[in-house]
Amino acid sequence: MVAKIIDGNAVARHVRQECKEQTQALKAQGVTPGLAVIIVGDNPASKVYVANKVKACTEVGLASTVYAFEADTPDTVVEAKIQALNADPAVHGILVQLPLPAHYDAKRVLACISVDKDVDGFHLYNVGALAQGETVFPPCTPYGVSKMLEYENIPVAGQNVVVVGASNIVGKPMAMMLMQRDATVAICHAKTRDLAQFTILADILVVAAGVPNLILPQMVRTGAVVIDVGINRLPNGKLVGDVDFEGVRQKASYISPVPGGVGPMTITMLVHNTVQAAKRSLAGAEAQLTESLA
Ligand code: NAD
Repeated sequence: MVAKIIDGNAVARHVRQECKEQTQALKAQGVTPGLAVIIVGDNPASKVYVANKVKACTEVGLASTVYAFEADTPDTVVEAKIQALNADPAVHGILVQLPLPAHYDAKRVLACISVDKDVDGFHLYNVGALAQGETVFPPCTPYGVSKMLEYENIPVAGQNVVVVGASNIVGKPMAMMLMQRDATVAICHAKTRDLAQFTILADILVVAAGVPNLILPQMVRTGAVVIDVGINRLPNGKLVGDVDFEGVRQKASYISPVPGGVGPMTITMLVHNTVQAAKRSLAGAEAQLTESLA
């Protein structure tokens, strides 16, 4: 068996086209979806991520504004900016680029973002809602994986899913999302004993550990769906995921590559969440108007 390669760029194009159409419809009603991005310090990788997010917004027709602060800016200044953006009706989504400089309490900063504008899905309310299956804005990377499975018509209900990696931004929300879709989910992490005894059971294996070549062919069930979230830069400059791609693709039924797999989906789902936020705010404004007329 040679796996079908899941083309993340194609899925991303499809979702972005939907976002474009929804944005045009919103603009026709006088609303331009707007994203505000806050970046603190001069982490070069963060700058590249922010530039890519702005580019994706522009392509789809969203308005985006970047607020850049020096690394030594007091957290109160950044928090005040977030409060001002919370109150600004032209802003539908607010994103704080992580990591923040070490002297910041990232949790406290993220908690300042209005739940209605938390398009990254990291606010505690959104995390809690995810646990209850009532998410407002699902976190972008696992949401992107979920969309890829949907696009390929890969069934999730009743499937054995193994998620390797238990971070707050990828592994944990991924597990919850797929459990919400009725999968039987196991989560593995760095302290898991004998990783292979879990991965071999997976109908769908999602890997987000940040360890090149962590998943070898003998750890994968024949016919499994393998989604590689990992992004690792090798000493020779090559970008690879966490999965031995060439080996595992001989055994899996579907596999996502790195690059060109989950990567393009993450930013796309941020755009998607921002458009949804604008739709929610318009629906809220209309409901208020109906109430005041009643
Ligand atoms: P993290 O470092 O916060 O978490 C890594 C998780 O993997 C932890 O739970 C850790 O216990 C587990 N882990 C580490 N080594 C392991 C091992 N040997 N066996 C089993 N589990 C192990 O990382 P993260 O932010 O969740 O990101 C994970 C990977 O996904 C990274 O490579 C990151 O660059 C990538 N990533 C990609 C995207 C994307 O858009 N494609 C988005 C976010 C993160």
